Amino acid sequence: MSVVLPPNVSEKDFQKALAAFAGVVGRQWVLATDEDRDSYMDIYAPGDADQHIPSAAVGPSSAEEIQAIVRIANEYKVPLWPISRGKNLGYGAAAPRMTGTVVLDLGRMKRIIDVNERFGYCLIEPGVGFFDLFDYLQQNKIRLWMSIPANAWGSVVGNALERGYGYTPYGDNTSHICGMEVVLANGEMVRTGTGAMSNSPCWQLFKYGYGPSWDQLFCQSNFGVVTKMGLWLMPEPEATLGLDMQLPNPDDVGWAIDALQPLRLNGVLLQNPSIGNSLRFVASATQRSQWYQGEGALPDDVLAEILKKSGFGWWNISLRLYGYDEVNQVHARIVKDAFAPHTKQEFKVSEWHRGDSIENSGAGVPSVNPLQIINWRGGRGGHIGFSPTLPAKGDLVLKQFHSTKKRYEEIGVDYYGSFTLFDRYTTNVNMMIYDRDDAALTRKVRDLFKVLVADAAKEGYSEYRTHISYMDDVARTFDFNDHALLRLNERLKDALDPNGILAPGKQGIWPKAYRASQA
Ligand code: ADP
Repeated sequence: MSVVLPPNVSEKDFQKALAAFAGVVGRQWVLATDEDRDSYMDIYAPGDADQHIPSAAVGPSSAEEIQAIVRIANEYKVPLWPISRGKNLGYGAAAPRMTGTVVLDLGRMKRIIDVNERFGYCLIEPGVGFFDLFDYLQQNKIRLWMSIPANAWGSVVGNALERGYGYTPYGDNTSHICGMEVVLANGEMVRTGTGAMSNSPCWQLFKYGYGPSWDQLFCQSNFGVVTKMGLWLMPEPEATLGLDMQLPNPDDVGWAIDALQPLRLNGVLLQNPSIGNSLRFVASATQRSQWYQGEGALPDDVLAEILKKSGFGWWNISLRLYGYDEVNQVHARIVKDAFAPHTKQEFKVSEWHRGDSIENSGAGVPSVNPLQIINWRGGRGGHIGFSPTLPAKGDLVLKQFHSTKKRYEEIGVDYYGSFTLFDRYTTNVNMMIYDRDDAALTRKVRDLFKVLVADAAKEGYSEYRTHISYMDDVARTFDFNDHALLRLNERLKDALDPNGILAPGKQGIWPKAYRASQA
């Protein structure tokens, strides 16, 4: 058995720390064999898994155990990487940013502590998965809907902390967080918002509390370990109405964004629709070799043939209206009127009413089927995504789309993109699918990623979330006043976590212990 050590920690001290962790959680929940470590590596890594090797993992069952672990970690200066379920596929999965970090796996903490139908919220622990919460709501006939991301294998808390999103009106999960319990780097436990009053009935109702509001400071950060989260859930609507259309031309995405954004802003559209290119659908049902065996990016004429045979459009739009049936009907007419000047096509309409099967409701039913896309190139597949945000404006969207597609073609990766429309901005998810055993292809993907970060930065765009390998690159693009924001984050980090034990390097925030050697 080999040993991987955190930087600047002797093997003797590391073994002492592991023994002390075992004293807290029990020996079976300290995982430090080669096989254990392998299971916490980035299973989708684009050829760089060896940059993020955990030294061990430890699995507490309660917030009190986390407090004890954090205190031991301070004593031995052993860094910890908290994960909720570790299914952060495409962003590093369960692996830590820095080799030698111990993964703090909260997957055993799976309590659904409270669900309140009247006020539309849940209070849950980090190990609760989307499937768990969905089953709980269904089994208890609770008329609340969750918002579920494409890969529903992960944790509700983990996804909201990372600003993942789904496609219902509550799709922007992070903005629906209301109240957290957090273990800080010194082992102290805090509750945010009105949870800071020990008898508050408003912890999951009123976000702000009094004074500075902290929930968002624990999102995409390394300032604490979140042990409970309040999350608002959406009341089941009376009806939903789906509007689907397939757009035949690459440039159709421009006018579609311009037609939809005002309706998203004024509330006709309450959800964040995604406009995706066909590869998204084709790759989940077929493999590339069925269509094309050549090198380089999939040529446009092959794509045209695929579209003809599969029936998909160049872009595919799926809109969904939620609420009262009569209102949905009026809103559907408004959406159709907005599209009429641009296309002769009609929307495909689907309707759902309370009492019908939830499958076609637009409620979001957990699934892992979208992960099928990783089989596109064959072999042991993987994907990463470069996802900048930009103003939701047709001309800017087209410029971004064309420059990105050109980069895919120059470097030789199949273009796979989508634009998710929020009220004022759009998130442009650019997926790169590879066979992890194809070293040449994974190198191309790594090159492409770096080029896309640099291109986007020139336009003033940056990612909403990124893979552990690119956290520093993306952090560096936030350059105003010589990176003043990064310095602020570092000052906060040093004040809260002087020994640098929580998630060193996450989002480019390095504690002072590693700043010189790693950043
Ligand atoms: P999921 O299983 O939903 O994909 P993960 O558990 O992999 O999510 O979490 C994604 C990332 O979010 C982790 O790598 C970590 O940086 C952060 N994170 C997750 N859970 C917590 C938590 N409870 N406290 C602090 N950070 C967390």
